Amino acid sequence: MRGRLYHATRELPATKYAFVFKKQLGLVDSRNLNVIALSFGLMAKDQNGMRSTEKSQAAFAASQAVLPGGVNSPVRAFGAVGGTPRLLESGNGAIVKDVDGNTYIDYVGSWGPLILGHADERVAAAASKALRKGWSFGAPTEIEMHLAQQIVADVPSIEQVRFVNSGTEATMSAIRLARGFTGRELIVKAEGCYHGHVDALLVNAGSGLATFGTPSSAGVPAAVIAATLVVPFNDVEAARRVFQTHGPQIAAFLVEPIAGNMGCVPPTEGYLTTLRQLCDQCGTLLIFDEVMTGYRVGLGGAQKLYDVVPDLTCLGKIIGGGMPVGAYGGRREIMAQLSPVGPVYQAGTLSGNPLAMAAGLATLEALHEKGVYTQLEVISSHLAEGLAAAARQANVSIYQTRVGSMAGLFFQSGPVKDYASVAKSDTKTYAKFFHAMLNQGIYLAPSQFECMFVSLAHTQEQIDQTITAAEQAFAEVVT
Ligand code: PLP
Repeated sequence: MRGRLYHATRELPATKYAFVFKKQLGLVDSRNLNVIALSFGLMAKDQNGMRSTEKSQAAFAASQAVLPGGVNSPVRAFGAVGGTPRLLESGNGAIVKDVDGNTYIDYVGSWGPLILGHADERVAAAASKALRKGWSFGAPTEIEMHLAQQIVADVPSIEQVRFVNSGTEATMSAIRLARGFTGRELIVKAEGCYHGHVDALLVNAGSGLATFGTPSSAGVPAAVIAATLVVPFNDVEAARRVFQTHGPQIAAFLVEPIAGNMGCVPPTEGYLTTLRQLCDQCGTLLIFDEVMTGYRVGLGGAQKLYDVVPDLTCLGKIIGGGMPVGAYGGRREIMAQLSPVGPVYQAGTLSGNPLAMAAGLATLEALHEKGVYTQLEVISSHLAEGLAAAARQANVSIYQTRVGSMAGLFFQSGPVKDYASVAKSDTKTYAKFFHAMLNQGIYLAPSQFECMFVSLAHTQEQIDQTITAAEQAFAEVVT
């Protein structure tokens, strides 16, 4: 399950894709091209073999007039890979469709929540039922209690949970709670881990090994991040040093147990256990940000997988089945500090709203079906092995990481274990690979430093199509 190195060395033969497609071209005239293309999951190509993106381009230009950068979240703008984002209009299973009618096999899955695929019938039915009964009350409901019970049953560290509306709100509130509970101010975070756009956590590392960082966004006052320390991810010695120097002042060590926001970077052997010990020695709360890994790598998240129980856990994404949601939870004595029981204030008009709760509960119920995570493992490993073979064929050096259905594909020979090593990746080659895949109907994250997510809706055939497309795409990046 841990990160594995694939170094590609073999010569490129004619790709299966090129062979099959040329054969088809020889048999049919151009009027039938789209029919043939459709059977390969491709559509709407112009005479240069490029997919038509006219409507996406027009709509994105119009969006830019009214939305900053044309988007509501920066990475969607394709800034890291260039070109025009596809404006998506529908999704079903593992397939998304853009406004030009192009279809893509999707490995973004709304950045993680859609582990069942798009428009899953069970989730749709639960959400529609909730919708018809009224979609917001601002009062306690049974459905939020049911989702909370399920999370408490599944996630080892959580005895009580508070729902919010995003992962950002979850981490923001968890650090406030940690400060309230411990009466301390310092927070330690690991470089390259992303915890949402919380002011105090938008920090770049400074130059030393454990430093007070600098704001990584305009608009964040230096004073707000003055209590945030940054250490390299997976660096046990740096963690020891920060505790030696500041231990009694550290309220919380906040970390993604599997980093998923610099590509996928699993923890090195013993890293999480050491953090647990250091926190215990200093009376510091260990917070796992499992917004991405919660229910992704197993029902109990990364904490169950690595058998390390944090004091607080942040959740989001999957627990809302694709609806806006976040949550944080932990030991009862810590959660008892929260208002209205305790002195740490946190509230939300739409928190625990019935739509998100219903979609989340239906998703978790589906994830409790037998064999679900085995299925994810089987198709994800098949994809990873296929991509490795395709890169080898094309003599492209890549480094792959994977924990279950979250995976990283770095254009470098590796190993990657922290932000500094991840940053050595060849982003220009990734951009070429990304576009070569997109043009063949494979929708990857528009940045090297994001994860690939496989869902339960991905079929063996779609994985094979993806591997075939990758053979072509790897061949293109070396030319
Ligand atoms: N924490 C992690 C690990 C995340 O991956 C993200 C988002 O990608 C967040 C927090 C922030 O969540 P949201 O975008 O819902 O605010």
